[in-house]
Amino acid sequence: MAAAIAAGEVVERPESVVKELVENSLDARATRIEISIKGGGVKLIQVKDNGSGVAADEVPLILERHATSKLSTKEDLFRIQTLGFRGEALTSIGAVSRLVFHTRAQEEELGTELRVAGGELENLQSIGAPSGTVVQVRDLFFNVPARLKFLKSENTERRRIRALLARYAFAYPEVAFSYEQEGKNVFRTTGSGERREVLAEIFGLETAKSMIELQDAGSGPITVSGFISPPSIHRGTRREITFFVQGRAIHDPSLSAAVLQAYHGLLMVGRYPVAILLIEVPLESVDLNVHPAKAEVRFTDPQKVFTVIQRVLRGTLLNQAPAPALEMSTTWQRVYPEELAGTPDAAWEIHNLSQENVNLQQRPADLDVPLLRSVGQVGAAYLVAEGPDGVYLIDQHAAHERVLFERFMSQWNSGGMESQQLLAAETVDLNPAQSERMNDLIPRLQSLGFEVDHFGAESYKVRAIPAILIDADPKETLRSVVDDLEEDESALLSDVEARIAARVCKRAAIKSGQILSLEEQRQLIRQLEKCDSPRTCPHGRPTMIHLSVVALERQFGRRG
Ligand code: ADP
Ligand code: MG
Repeated sequence: MAAAIAAGEVVERPESVVKELVENSLDARATRIEISIKGGGVKLIQVKDNGSGVAADEVPLILERHATSKLSTKEDLFRIQTLGFRGEALTSIGAVSRLVFHTRAQEEELGTELRVAGGELENLQSIGAPSGTVVQVRDLFFNVPARLKFLKSENTERRRIRALLARYAFAYPEVAFSYEQEGKNVFRTTGSGERREVLAEIFGLETAKSMIELQDAGSGPITVSGFISPPSIHRGTRREITFFVQGRAIHDPSLSAAVLQAYHGLLMVGRYPVAILLIEVPLESVDLNVHPAKAEVRFTDPQKVFTVIQRVLRGTLLNQAPAPALEMSTTWQRVYPEELAGTPDAAWEIHNLSQENVNLQQRPADLDVPLLRSVGQVGAAYLVAEGPDGVYLIDQHAAHERVLFERFMSQWNSGGMESQQLLAAETVDLNPAQSERMNDLIPRLQSLGFEVDHFGAESYKVRAIPAILIDADPKETLRSVVDDLEEDESALLSDVEARIAARVCKRAAIKSGQILSLEEQRQLIRQLEKCDSPRTCPHGRPTMIHLSVVALERQFGRRG
């Protein structure tokens, strides 16, 4: 049992098994790696490679904890050139699964089969086998039910494994990867050495096409290469910023911070770029042995690495991505305040309404005259309003989304979502994938004020919805909860709730194309003024643009 507990440090979930096995294949200098999984990796993970294989007399050592063929002296630990070095991955995996290891060293005639289940050696014998190694891991965590229970849905595990493999395929473009899940091929790479080829597997075709390749890799001993998104592409989370350090996938919030800093002023608040970066530093300036799953590293001089990343990315962005202000002609466009500062001749000085422009907190609390005076509606989509400092165009949909979202979150944070019973329960049918997600979500929906019952196969009954959404269509609202959740799903609990709230509010908000009475316009503007972050919708898009008095005067030739 102690072995099973220790295994938990390395083997957290199916994804960690895949990572360790693939790293072993890479260390064995494989040029072809075939991965296949079943049951989200719990039933089966198989990794087959054409690498060096293990000599027959060395196979028994594999199961000894801290036995590795990759380090010979203690000093090697400070100059690690392989992905593995701790010699505990296979031992740990074997402790919590049924593991079969088939291998034949290139120079030997016969191969070896090793079988382990729950840490017990079951078989060790010679067999005929192609050169290279095949590892099968079945029934992961069969003897650690607590850990099994902790896993998310099969979908989640599949998605994580796929994302991990796509990233490794990117980092090792000269290796041909093929990945199959539940019997179906998901992707394969050719091993041509062309990284851009692999990008679409990671980001999807559309995004991949626009990704910018880093040109200047950074001078000196620290190098950064890879791809980053132009400012026009952004996400609601930082999860699509990923790193390889010395060829291994790692997590490092401070490296992400360097990336965000490079985009400073180019993205809206709450929006994050997409990036995959390969960082190489001298062997002796990084400690790789700080985490059992080798998912973290420690740099001797983290500040230096931070600076190089920030500089290389910023340089690339400024070279390749023209600032939006340059594209401005006579049309109304949104520009960012910082860029505005450098372009005094901009045809129209329209910019996001920022906190500095209108500090709502400074308004006297008993003032019931709205700060913005509603003027009217244009195109059944925008409200026109006048403020002390010019004209505002407000996107009615984005603004209402913001209003609903803040009400929703403030009710949720104060502990009690008010729920409204429907007169008659409504039935919603989902597809199997959605249904799987819905089952995970039902308890969370309850805390958000929904009452939803699973009602046969993929049918659900909605009995109540959050009271603030009472004007919304309950079916549509429930559907919006599962839509795109795959893409958005987050590990942080509170984040999931916020995301659901944002999505639900989007669905429930006033649509563009809807004609509003003057009173409705006034109300919306007044509600927006009360928001904590009135200038963006929960998804980060602006709710309003501003045409300042100064800009107006200049345009009409009243000012020089
Ligand atoms: P580590 O990778 O840290 O050395 P592991 O437990 O992952 O430890 O693997 C133990 C040993 O098994 C490795 O050092 C290596 O000699 C051998 N091994 C594992 N997988 C493979 C493989 N796919 N090809 C060749 N050798 C392998
Ligand atoms: Mg290893």
